Amino acid sequence: MTRLPPEARAALEALGISRYGLVAVGELVFEAAFREACASNQCGRYGTNWACPPGVGAPDALAARARGFRCGLVLQTVWPIEDAFDFEGMLAAGERHNALFRKAVGQVAPLLAAGGATLALSAGACGVCPSCTYPEGAPCRFPERALASLEAYGIDVARLLEAAGLAYRNGADTVSYVGLLLF
Ligand code: SF4
Repeated sequence: MTRLPPEARAALEALGISRYGLVAVGELVFEAAFREACASNQCGRYGTNWACPPGVGAPDALAARARGFRCGLVLQTVWPIEDAFDFEGMLAAGERHNALFRKAVGQVAPLLAAGGATLALSAGACGVCPSCTYPEGAPCRFPERALASLEAYGIDVARLLEAAGLAYRNGADTVSYVGLLLF
């Protein structure tokens, strides 16, 4: 698929998403370093969530799962923040991004996959449940809704954006987030 169908473009634009692009799955770059960065636990969610390492699965298995799809729709959202140290603003923007990304996936996935399998990856830990069941021996409550991150899959986001024709940075005092829908 080289162009997004008009209905999918209309759905994204109705949601206020104007930054998006298609990539072939062969353009995804998997780097161990991104996955390893999760283990440094800067976000504080490592080992707390079924959608984060290590619970999300082994890197090779995740890359193989992603490579089982044909195309990817890359969605980017850009949010204002006070300054480069506005971590609270960045976290709030990440939550807004994931909520908007979920809405977009709900509308666009049926148009792209025609009932076939899809895989959505976004930013940060899965936030579906107020408290994740990991790692107390209970399985994920909603495996079909759980949202893993691009980093957990070891995907190079800068190269993903480049392949989709999108900018990595989008101006001073903004933060950008990225989601990927594989289909
Ligand atoms: S859906 Fe709930 S149990 Fe599953 S990974 Fe997300 S937060 Fe955890």
